[in-house]
Amino acid sequence: MGKRELRESLKSDIDNLFKSPEVAEHEFQNATKRQKVFKQSSSTPTKPSTSIERDPNKPRIDLRLTRLGDGQRLDCDTLAHLVHYTVFGSALQRPRWLNISHHRNVLQSLVIRVNVEEDFFTTTNLSFPNEFFDRRWIELDSDISNRSLFWNSMMKVQLTIQEQVRRKSDKMQKIFQKTGKHDKSHFILTTTNLADRNFPFPGVEGVVPTKQRYKKLCSSSPLFSVDCEMCETDLANRALTRISIIDENEATILDTLVKPEGRITDYLTRYSGITEDMMKNVTTTLQDVQKAVQNLLPPDAILVGHSLEHDLQAMKMSHPFCLDVGHVLNYTNNGASFRNSLKNLTELFLGARIQSEFGHCSYEDAWAAMRLAQLKIQKGIIFGNTSFGWKFSEYAKQNGLVEEKCVKKKIVSIPCTGCSEPTVVECTVMNCRCRIVPGPSQCVHCVKLGDSEQGDFDWQETLDIDTNKTTSPIEKYLKKMNTVMCAFDTTVLDTFPTSSKKVRSKPPTKFSSTETFVNDVSSEMLNDSLILVEIDKEKVDAPESTDSDQGDVQDNAEALNGMLEKLVAATSKNSMIMMIFSNSYKSILYLRIK
Ligand SMILES: [Zn+2]
Ligand SMILES: [Zn+2]
Repeated sequence: MGKRELRESLKSDIDNLFKSPEVAEHEFQNATKRQKVFKQSSSTPTKPSTSIERDPNKPRIDLRLTRLGDGQRLDCDTLAHLVHYTVFGSALQRPRWLNISHHRNVLQSLVIRVNVEEDFFTTTNLSFPNEFFDRRWIELDSDISNRSLFWNSMMKVQLTIQEQVRRKSDKMQKIFQKTGKHDKSHFILTTTNLADRNFPFPGVEGVVPTKQRYKKLCSSSPLFSVDCEMCETDLANRALTRISIIDENEATILDTLVKPEGRITDYLTRYSGITEDMMKNVTTTLQDVQKAVQNLLPPDAILVGHSLEHDLQAMKMSHPFCLDVGHVLNYTNNGASFRNSLKNLTELFLGARIQSEFGHCSYEDAWAAMRLAQLKIQKGIIFGNTSFGWKFSEYAKQNGLVEEKCVKKKIVSIPCTGCSEPTVVECTVMNCRCRIVPGPSQCVHCVKLGDSEQGDFDWQETLDIDTNKTTSPIEKYLKKMNTVMCAFDTTVLDTFPTSSKKVRSKPPTKFSSTETFVNDVSSEMLNDSLILVEIDKEKVDAPESTDSDQGDVQDNAEALNGMLEKLVAATSKNSMIMMIFSNSYKSILYLRIK
């Protein structure tokens, strides 16, 4: 194949890159099916893997990339988490972004990192990974390019605050003692729920508590519904661009656009309703919002929302009393982690429409969550929850659900009593509910200067978590039979466990060529639980050219291809193979169970 043809064929491959996590996931699932069908229909006796494929206990990977969140990519921590999970299993939290069935049967994990030249992805086609992984690959977060970060992540097991919280949550639950029969405190998420759902906790770097001191809940504790809109920036996949908070009377108490740190790369207008035009003169920062929230909320405020963890993550704030309508209402009974969408819940339980074709407004989402929370509290624990035997069909029959009529009456927005600037965001959604409710009397900047009412306990103190101890060196997790081979330049690590017999270093620099290095690693890895290998493509020797016509297309790609094949072949069956190609612009992942 000539160089131009090669380029052309590669370009079409690259054009077919996974556009979104959904597409990537779909493609991956299809590829897995195809592999299965191919293996089953193959009658060639020379295929040694046929009997293995039929093993019902064979581990299987199903990607759930959408769980990462909109536009979020796999980064060093998430990849390391998967690797550690395959090695240490249930001692760790299950990765959210994929399912591995029979993960205990993953006998080995092989991580190969190949550092490639800048034009690698447009000029090189390696046949082995293409075939072995059925051409399915995933583009990774830009932090993968950082070798030191990458290998340090692999060598440290993340002990999340949420994990620490879960271990001692029984004790902490005592601060939320329940009072009264239909009291609101029955409906808030437990501390374990918060940990399981990855809510921000106080003490985590960058997280600001909504209050220094909170008050125990009582029947008069007020609800505040919050909804945030996010956009994508060059720094974050989800940065706060608008926040709406409403009270129990559906009045807006805070509504503002927020200028995110970094440059906005995608306004996500379809989901956020935010346009470039709206953001033009916005100067309000996340810190302004955090201060305003601290001053607005009383110490026993219950925050209401749908998938509230995403809102609190965008606000970078922690709050102990959270009522998630996606948690307390579930009309389909699809398992504990399943949540009905806010749009569907609103249509079914309130007979109202939100997120229509006219666009998206955070007031409306906050309004819907507030109304749903109030309905739930009024009707009690069993209402709207199929796991308690409640049935939607019966409910619908009894309540002839009719579309709610909302009186459209334009309320003129009152200027801020402090600075006379508008106190709410000018809504772009036609006939939006936000236009018929009274707005706050003060804008975000004037509110943030106010006094904050405080309670009597500090949440972080009651959690009693050592926030400095969020990782544990990998050797501390290794059991009797576990060993790790570090076949990379371990000088990039902050520390290398020289005293541990279970972790050994095999740096490529000790070998005369990459080929002898790979041969040595391959011949030694059979008993290791985890093998971490790094290859610099530029250090791979090209075979001596016999055909001068090949010109510059002839390089070391074939030799590299052979090395990768050799490494994968040396692993035991049911190994997890993670292959990463990375340069400073782009990193991609191939993933499969052998
Ligand atoms: Zn003001
Ligand atoms: Zn609106």
